Amino acid sequence: MSVTEPAPVAPPPAPPVHEGILRRQSLRESAARTYARSLPIVPVRARGLTIEGADGRRYLDCLSGAGTLALGHNHPVVLEAIRKVIDSGAPLHVLDLATPVKDAFTTELFATLPREFADNARIQFCGPAGTDAVEAAFKLVRAATGRDGLLTFTGAYHGMTAGALEASGGARDVRVTRLPFPQDYRCPFGIGGERGAALGARWTEHLLDDEKGGVPAPAGMIVEPVQGEGGVNPAPDAWLRRMREITRARSIPLIADEVQTGVGRTGAFWAVEHSGIVPDVMVLSKAIGGSLPLAVIVYRSELDLWQPGAHAGTFRGNQLAMAAGAATLAYVRENGLAERAAALGARMLDSLRKLRVDHPGIGDVRGRGLMIGLELVDPEAAPLPAEADDHAPAPPPDPALARAVQQECLDRGLIVELGGRHSAVVRLLPPLTLTDEQASAVVDRLADALAAAERSPHRRAAAGPTT
Ligand code: PMP
Repeated sequence: MSVTEPAPVAPPPAPPVHEGILRRQSLRESAARTYARSLPIVPVRARGLTIEGADGRRYLDCLSGAGTLALGHNHPVVLEAIRKVIDSGAPLHVLDLATPVKDAFTTELFATLPREFADNARIQFCGPAGTDAVEAAFKLVRAATGRDGLLTFTGAYHGMTAGALEASGGARDVRVTRLPFPQDYRCPFGIGGERGAALGARWTEHLLDDEKGGVPAPAGMIVEPVQGEGGVNPAPDAWLRRMREITRARSIPLIADEVQTGVGRTGAFWAVEHSGIVPDVMVLSKAIGGSLPLAVIVYRSELDLWQPGAHAGTFRGNQLAMAAGAATLAYVRENGLAERAAALGARMLDSLRKLRVDHPGIGDVRGRGLMIGLELVDPEAAPLPAEADDHAPAPPPDPALARAVQQECLDRGLIVELGGRHSAVVRLLPPLTLTDEQASAVVDRLADALAAAERSPHRRAAAGPTT
């Protein structure tokens, strides 16, 4: 008697690999993870503007490693520079020793810096992140001036280590005095424009000179030429020049935090060039490492009053980052990518402003170069508290709409970042190598996403405010 074999039962289909990876990430990684929450993507390949996920989906990446990837992902000149170091047999870890790779990086970096600044500058290689360079800058000016306090601005973002965090908007520290950063759309003085910025400068000056103002002479002032995380707020050039005059007249070192604005991003190689100011210290990171971790401060040599070893650290000699960074700096310089960012950014701002006709949820479109932000608002809600007559009051920000737009963008294969005080600013930080066609595709997808988010109150409600 033959026994009939039971028919094989097909095993249930295995869940896609990327789902397992995402599930394990949410089980194992810290609750503090950030981008991973709003972008459930498992990148496996990337080139230029495009990222491919493990599920085979492709995305246009306008987050660019939080503004790091000046040349997009895996640019051939960056890959070639990294391979060259590896193939040469050069040591990858060298502490802060001199190497040909470091020498070439420093030479290239100094060649891009404003002449007047570079001619009399020192460089300090810090720990690898932007926040490490911010800490180094604070320590430097405190050592050089013998003072303690710092002047910072409302809405600022300088990093997540203790000192940098204290200097960022939202933190409380008695050594930090926070001054009003000019904002045209939500002007703290209710008048916006040049007059609003001029009042901010006047307040700064008054506070510093008021013996009863409670602000002793500070060690330095730190400013972002365009606030990035704070919601893409460009500092007006005239205001920045005033800050330079005010600080110079009182011997207060001026620190320009160009971690996000540097390397062509805003349409000039360094954003301070728009105003022509020469700062005392520049804080540089992100793009200078060509996608690998690298951070430095460059400063006026008179401030170099540190003792040997005053600011040390194990990871200050990342050879691959220096090679990738030097290749990136040279490519941006030789190919005029700052000018390209200025022209393309202006055109994108123009196209995005035109969307306001059909999308009343776009309260403001602002930016400089390829650092662009759309502040989303609830046009039907009452405007925020009474403002002066000559400046139209802005409707309240709409973080739920911004979050829904971000998700609708993702559904359409577009990665965007959110920022601003209420996480209601959709931010675009595309690579400077963006083509005209890609720029149009980004604007089109964003417009579609806006329409979809506005049509779908459920999605908006589900998106809720970002945390
Ligand atoms: N300064 C600015 C202006 C930044 O935008 C950032 C990061 N977004 C930092 C400092 C901190 O850099 P990191 O995240 O590499 O520590």
